[in-house]
Amino acid sequence: DMLGDTQDGVVVTRYSMHADVEDEQGNLFRCNLRRTLSSVVVGDRVIWRSVLEQLQGISGVIEAVQPRQNELVRPDYYDGLKVMAANIDRIIIVSAVLPTLSLNIIDRYLVICETANIPAVIVLNKVDLLSEQEFAEAEQQLKIYQDIGYQTLMISAQTGKNMQKLTALLSSGTSIFVGQSGVGKSSLVNQIMPEVNATTNEVSENSGLGQHTTTSSRLYHLPQGGNLIDSPGIREFGLWHLEPEQITRGYREFQYFLGTCKFRDCKHLDDPQCALREAVEQGKIHPVRFENYHRLILSRDETKSQRYFVG
Ligand code: GDP
Ligand code: ZN
Repeated sequence: DMLGDTQDGVVVTRYSMHADVEDEQGNLFRCNLRRTLSSVVVGDRVIWRSVLEQLQGISGVIEAVQPRQNELVRPDYYDGLKVMAANIDRIIIVSAVLPTLSLNIIDRYLVICETANIPAVIVLNKVDLLSEQEFAEAEQQLKIYQDIGYQTLMISAQTGKNMQKLTALLSSGTSIFVGQSGVGKSSLVNQIMPEVNATTNEVSENSGLGQHTTTSSRLYHLPQGGNLIDSPGIREFGLWHLEPEQITRGYREFQYFLGTCKFRDCKHLDDPQCALREAVEQGKIHPVRFENYHRLILSRDETKSQRYFVG
């Protein structure tokens, strides 16, 4: 037999042909993948064997992937849906006060987190730019999310305000930062793990068949404990792959009212006796959330047709 005993491990980097697997002692093994495995992504817990004789830098073979606790999926222009990472303990939704605090975009990311069953934390960056009054206003807006059970944090990557709270939050489990370009994700990642330059994402792979680069994500161990899965490709993505029913499920406070609309096929738009609308009128659902929900549903088809022609 050319192979050693089976062992447990975690995929920390996925290349086009291989994956780097970390064993329980923290040793890295570049592994081939059994052909029968349909999908192996960063964060996957795998069963693998070491090869007795290392060849072309390959020191193991991944035999099986353990069932995933959850997975982050993004629509891919060419491949349909693509799994980006697995077994994620929290998604940090990064937003910023500059150019503007967009609750609509926060809501979009929340839908992704809810449908993927991944806990979300909402972080508002660049609060150093706010006057006292603007700060109080931003606090009020974040309260919309606190009231429905989300943790929120106002921070500044520039001044370091509340950065310790953020690192404490990240110090257990595996986290991912998401958010629009320009909100300060790279700045945050650079502060959290200064030894890794977050902008240099091209990890080269020497397979003996020449150099390859990876576009997929990578799992880093943070200095204060906890892991961060990161790559530019994972930070920003759309949700036009979701059906309207899934989007509705992505609004956690809507769930209490959903069964009680008058009509079974209620679209929760201007349908008569819609329980969601009534809940808004009674102050049980925040009007901004309901408005963003409508924007998302109505823009979905348009976005969908546009996105197919982008990239
Ligand atoms: P990314 O696209 O989300 O990775 O955002 P970057 O980290 O590249 O940051 C975008 C811009 O915002 C850069 O010019 C940063 O210097 C700036 N920036 C990031 N964090 C802060 C902050 O806390 N306060 C201020 N004033 N600017 C920030
Ligand atoms: Zn309804």
